[in-house]
Amino acid sequence: MSVFDSAAAHIRSISPYQPGKPISELAREMGLEEAGIVKLASNENPLGMSERAKAAALAAITEVPRYPDGNGFELKQAVSRHHDLGMNQIVLGNGSNDVLEMVARALLGPGRSAVYSKHAFAVYPLATLAAGATGIEVPARDFGCDLDAMRAAIRDDTRVVFIANPNNPTGTFIEAGPLERFIASVPQDVLVVLDEAYSEYLPAALAYDSARWLARYPNLLVSRTFSKAYGLAGLRVGYGIGQPDVIDLLNRVRQPFNVTNVGLAAAVAALADQDFVRRSAELNAAGLKQLSAFFDGAGIGYIRSYANFIAFRAGDGAGVNQRLLQQGVIVRPIAGYAMPEWLRVSVGLESENARFIDALQKALA
Ligand SMILES: *Cc1c(COP(=O)(O)O)cnc(C)c1O
Repeated sequence: MSVFDSAAAHIRSISPYQPGKPISELAREMGLEEAGIVKLASNENPLGMSERAKAAALAAITEVPRYPDGNGFELKQAVSRHHDLGMNQIVLGNGSNDVLEMVARALLGPGRSAVYSKHAFAVYPLATLAAGATGIEVPARDFGCDLDAMRAAIRDDTRVVFIANPNNPTGTFIEAGPLERFIASVPQDVLVVLDEAYSEYLPAALAYDSARWLARYPNLLVSRTFSKAYGLAGLRVGYGIGQPDVIDLLNRVRQPFNVTNVGLAAAVAALADQDFVRRSAELNAAGLKQLSAFFDGAGIGYIRSYANFIAFRAGDGAGVNQRLLQQGVIVRPIAGYAMPEWLRVSVGLESENARFIDALQKALA
């Protein structure tokens, strides 16, 4: 028997995560110049990162021979001020993905289950299955979470409910009222993981402060990331906020040095530069308008998005994707999310969005 065959069945049954194609890979495959390629595939910030974060990261490079601060004191202090929470209410992650993994390791396992929606972020089933637990995928409503159905799907063995708000890859959003009522309805021994990877992009009228819910709902954990609006995807920094006992639990399964010293330093500076986040959100709002106006005019179906990407109906998703790649435009196929007719495009700079629009018109012609 091979090593592969000897692995547990629940590990062998996992379909690996499919990342967006890197620019360097497409350049190699198609013989294109990297500079001519537009990547709108991974919901990255088209403005890059804050200059202050960049300076902090460059300065921190001298710390690389040393292990990072395993407690991440300075970043936790900054996060604690940002959300007005105690230091013991914060766990840092190697990206927020790491926080999701910690949840699965701490709370899931054989004989336990996690509830999430169809078309929800791929890491929820991945983390659930890797822990040997059962994933309960609840049918979506208009591509978003059907909260009543999700509540009804919670079983005695359910330990975690995952919700991304806004959701990736659909961009759908649940307003604060129904979301809080849902959290209040979940049994207290079931952790609700509210993944707010895109909350910085919400318009003021829809933004809500889930940190204020933590005192009311001890079974709530909110995750945030520096990968999207803060533009630090390559440094891998995220965090979770919750009640001290939930955070204590996650710290027990956390790798001792899970966030790098360069990442910690950059994230502290990035958090302090809220002006950069505001400019990023403004650019994104304009880009969402630019792309939606094109889809409307061209009669292309799309899901109204509250994040920094839009899922649109391409018909032959794989074929259209290939014809976009040939033109040096990278978007994200989402067949793995049970949406084979759809592609997801991240909002870029105005000129990048225009390149995408032009290439899509040719790809569809
Ligand atoms: C991008 C994304 C994340 C963030 O991943 P990181 O590990 O922080 O880079 C988390 N949740 C969702 C829904 C995302 O789309």
